[in-house]
Order: sequence, then structure tokens, then C-alpha cells
Amino acid sequence: MTAEATRVGEPVIDVTELTRRFDSTTALDSVSLSMPRGAVYGLVGANGAGKTTLIKHILGLLRAESGSVRVFGLDPVADPVGVLSRIGYLSEENDLPGWMRVDELIRFSRAFYPAWDDAYAEELRQSFALEPAAKIKSLSKGQKARMGLLIALAYRPDLLVLDEPSSGLDPIVRRDILGAIIRTIAHEGRTVLFSSHLLEEVEQVADHVTMINKGRIVLSAPLEDIREAHRVDGRVLSLDEIFVAQVGMSAAAASES
Ligand code: ATP
Repeated sequence: MTAEATRVGEPVIDVTELTRRFDSTTALDSVSLSMPRGAVYGLVGANGAGKTTLIKHILGLLRAESGSVRVFGLDPVADPVGVLSRIGYLSEENDLPGWMRVDELIRFSRAFYPAWDDAYAEELRQSFALEPAAKIKSLSKGQKARMGLLIALAYRPDLLVLDEPSSGLDPIVRRDILGAIIRTIAHEGRTVLFSSHLLEEVEQVADHVTMINKGRIVLSAPLEDIREAHRVDGRVLSLDEIFVAQVGMSAAAASES
């Protein structure tokens, strides 16, 4: 299925009053969000805010205990193939088979996806400077993140989900490549959800920002509207400053505490 197969106007991701508890921790507290097609959605919050738990529900790795999750109009737990075949995902851990070589992992991965684009995969491999014969286990953390990103992108998924992509990527990939990729995807009418606690980076690429703190959404709106609503003496506050105003401390500081 292509991006067009999602009904016009139907949200790509529709989460309604999702609550998730792990023992005494409320990881998600009545979270609702609706992501339109073609949006670049930045999910921001400190470590432990609930970002990965939300993403796991979207991928169908966790079942909604309370509330509902729909992706392309489907329940990702009931229809994992229908959902996951249209999602490209780069996780924080980015587990890749260390014993494979770069070219072997590319051949192995393409077998799973009918829409795999060989020319695009090769273009990404070259721009990411990944040697075909290099063993995955010998790659640096940044190179592994590039490899994970290549696999997530090469079948041109309708929805790209990146969980803290910046934590593994080196500054050059972050600044020059990731932003360009995200913009291209959105320009093609596909959708991107990425989580981060680096608000400066989110500010550069997201067109909708959702701030989450201790499992609760504290602010969710188009970035332009957020900026408009947060001016002090004519100056537009940075996303970091807005986060502090909402949460009481910066995402970076809250991540360390
Ligand atoms: P990070 O950037 O550190 O991954 P996050 O915003 O993604 O942070 P989550 O990983 O979703 O946060 O965690 C939210 C809360 O739920 C945290 O308090 C975490 O300790 C807790 N949590 C998440 N998964 C589990 C689990 N499987 N068992 C117990 N507690 C969990």
C-alpha cells in the first residue's frame, strides 16, 4: 500500500486517552494525539517522560490497557503486518546483527520489503559512507545508527518513526542528513514521528510539537502556533525556554535528574 491508500483526512496515528502503568509508575496518563499525513511530529520530553512507551504502542509492541491506538486506521496489535510493513523504525537501541556485513544486511533486509528501493539504498549507503564489506559489529555507534536509518528508509515507508535518533547519530549526520531526510519525506506526503530531548533539533525540523512530561501531554500544537503564543517583549522564545515554562526545568536538566 502507498501513502495514498490512507484515506484522505484520516490521521496516520490516532491515539485516544491512552494510559499505561508499570507497577506504581504511570508511564502514560490519558494521552491523546492525532497525526495528519505529511506531518513532521516532534515528541519531546525528558528521559522517562513516556516517549518510548508511546512509540511502543504505536508499533504494536505494547497493547493498550486503557484507551485506543490506531495507525493507518488499524489496530497495530491486531494487525501487525498491515501496520509494520508501512513503518520505518529506528530505535534508541538500534539492535543490528553484528555478524553480518553491510552489504549482507542490506540484501537480508530488502527481502522483507516488496517496496525496497535499491537505488535509494545505494544512495544512502554512499552518503552515509558505509563500506559494503564492513562487519556490523566493527562499526562505530554513529555508523550503526546510519545503518539503522538506511534500513528504516530504503523501502520508503509511509510513516517513519525515530526514537531519539540524535542519541546515536554524530553531529554531521544530525545536522546535514537527518534534517534533509525528514524534510524530503514530509515533502513526499509521508509522515515522520521522532522523539527527542534535544529541543533545538526538534525546532529545526518539526512542524508539530508535542511536549510530554511524566506521562502527560503538557503542550501539543503546530510549532508556528506555539511560537506565536510564546513571545516575551516581541521576542519569540526558544522551544527550550517554552519547555521550561511548561515543565519547570529544561528537558536536558530533567533528563539528568
Ligand atoms: P527515555 O528517553 O529515557 O527512553 P522515555 O521518555 O522514552 O525516556 P519511557 O521509556 O517511555 O520514557 O519510560 C516512561 C516511564 O515508564 C519511566 O519511568 C520508565 O522507568 C517506566 N517504564 C518504561 N518501561 C517499563 C517497563 N517495561 N517496566 C517498568 N517500568 C517501565
